[in-house]
Amino acid sequence: MDVTALARDLRTGNRRALARAITLVESTRADHRAAAVDLLEAVRDDGREALRIGLSGTPGVGKSTFIESFGMMLTARGLRVAVLAVDPSSARSGGSILGDKTRMDRLSRDPGAFIRPSPSGAQLGGVASRTREAARLCEAAGFDVILIETVGVGQSETAVAWMTDLFVLLLAPAGGDELQGVKRGIMEMADLILVNKADGDLKPAAMRTCADYAGALRLLRRRDYDPPDFPKAMTVSALEENGLEDAWGEMQTLDAWRREEGHRASRRAEQAQHWFEEDVRRALLAKLATPEAQEEMAGLGTDVAGGRLTSAEAARRMLAALEGQ
Ligand code: GDP
Repeated sequence: MDVTALARDLRTGNRRALARAITLVESTRADHRAAAVDLLEAVRDDGREALRIGLSGTPGVGKSTFIESFGMMLTARGLRVAVLAVDPSSARSGGSILGDKTRMDRLSRDPGAFIRPSPSGAQLGGVASRTREAARLCEAAGFDVILIETVGVGQSETAVAWMTDLFVLLLAPAGGDELQGVKRGIMEMADLILVNKADGDLKPAAMRTCADYAGALRLLRRRDYDPPDFPKAMTVSALEENGLEDAWGEMQTLDAWRREEGHRASRRAEQAQHWFEEDVRRALLAKLATPEAQEEMAGLGTDVAGGRLTSAEAARRMLAALEGQ
């Protein structure tokens, strides 16, 4: 594996090189991992930074429709757009795959866009960590905007928020005046709430839902990394391509302010530290999961159960065995 050549090709914006580089960081093979680490190090200091936008919403709210319309609007402005995904269900078979090109047919044929589905993996932490590395590679390849899609369930929003500069929550118009059971934690993460499908018969409901969320956002504690008026809620129609320019304008306003105030840089620094700790934790757990380690653990466990060893002594021996691996 010629990492230097790959890094060079990547920097020119070559899409095949980018795809190969992402495949490398997603690989679990030890030699691939070593090359991936070298590659990430080779591009570390390139000074290239994209705006990373997290986008979450439950299935059916219109994420792929939105990404396609929004992405096309951005590429029409000459921006290069990468679409990545963190899909907690990708470990399972079946179900729609986030970042699937067939869901974004027009955008996937756009030369200014690059779409990559979620890496598969048993653990969300592992999937997310690889996606963050993929995002860095997209930056190194000169992309301007990176959209990272996830579904509105479980921990995946948190993981995506830990790798993006902005977090957008996409919602559909609610039937009644009930907030759609959006978890408070997810609301608190959002920088921008977009109520999609504000078109045709759904428009009045979308406006109502938007007003409800705007009210709910005002009740949240103000965050020190927000300018006045943020977070905010607005309506869009991904289908009719309405409100997308405004949404982009708001994202730019927010990002410009945060960059000016140093919040983008400090958030990225904090994120880097978070993923470092996450990677160390995962590597240690992986060591524990090898057959040899499991066997050692079972043997020591039997000794502890039989009163032949204290649990403290057994734990000490277990850690010593892991270090010897
Ligand atoms: P995803 O599961 O979140 O990716 O949602 P999709 O993008 O696949 O959209 C789900 C359904 O909602 C599809 O039938 C879309 O055509 C429809 N849809 C998406 N955006 C809009 C919109 O802005 N207006 C309307 N009326 N329908 C939309």
